[in-house]
Amino acid sequence: MKDIATAGRTKQVLKTHGFDVKKSLGQNFIVDLNVINSVLDKADIGTQTGVIEVGPGIGSLTEQLAKRAGKVMAFEIDQRLIPVLQDTLSPYDNITIINGDILKADIDRAIKGYFEGMEEVIVVANLPYYITTPIIMNFLEQNLPIGRYYVMMQKEVGERISALPDTKSYGSLSIAIDYYTNARTVQIVPKTVFMPNPNVDSIVVEMVKREKKKVEIDDEALFFRLTRTAFAQRRKTILNNYISAFENGKQLKNEIKELLESAGIDPKRRGESLTIEEYSGIYHELKNFSALKLRNRQA
Ligand code: SAM
Repeated sequence: MKDIATAGRTKQVLKTHGFDVKKSLGQNFIVDLNVINSVLDKADIGTQTGVIEVGPGIGSLTEQLAKRAGKVMAFEIDQRLIPVLQDTLSPYDNITIINGDILKADIDRAIKGYFEGMEEVIVVANLPYYITTPIIMNFLEQNLPIGRYYVMMQKEVGERISALPDTKSYGSLSIAIDYYTNARTVQIVPKTVFMPNPNVDSIVVEMVKREKKKVEIDDEALFFRLTRTAFAQRRKTILNNYISAFENGKQLKNEIKELLESAGIDPKRRGESLTIEEYSGIYHELKNFSALKLRNRQA
């Protein structure tokens, strides 16, 4: 039988099961074995690798993972796909499918039991585009024993993830990812290799977890709010963004200026020009400015 990740087999599977793709769940199935193989080559998966997949769909990527990895665990939210996967993946005995929302799953527990004995656990996924960032951040913030991530996502988000300071794509997401991982773009994937075609091209990003975080932060929530608010209006200077972000910012303008200067930052600079180390400098200086409190609203 043909591999699932081919146009012919995918059409056949959809027809046999009378399955209508749900756009709202980001269902774009990959139908190109070359693309999958080139990503999996880079991920260097062996029989001692345990792989977590998010959103197996009809099993196109899952099948190729099962051929290379020791064990695969895939989380699929769409209950209608469970009987489809039971059918398409029936030749493989190293796959577990969990029907559920990856954002609500107890990933840590699932890993501990299932992947025991594996040398490493990694994530490989063609992510549903409507929640790419929440899924990635949910993995990273939990400090799970996952060493590497190979994730396909819409090009624009992938570019933001691996962006460097002083570029158009650089923002608080780039900083958050840089805090937890060493990220780089692995390859670009044209929209034509999916069924149905999404509106935009995709990118595969590799993220390798840092053994030690890039900067030392004890209150990560506060640190990330400091970075997010600095980009609230990209054209504004960091001083002006912080005037809006801090309680009574207008009255406390001089203190905010002093905060930035004591961290070695020219208040006229824009948020996009600051490195993660410079944001860390502001974060640590903030402890010396007791009058400065970020506004409570979600920033
Ligand atoms: N891996 C398949 C492939 O490459 O052909 C399908 C990828 S498709 C882009 C995304 C998949 O994620 C869909 O099967 C969708 O139902 C599933 N999905 C969407 N939201 C999810 C969630 N919150 N948790 C788990 N799976 C989800």
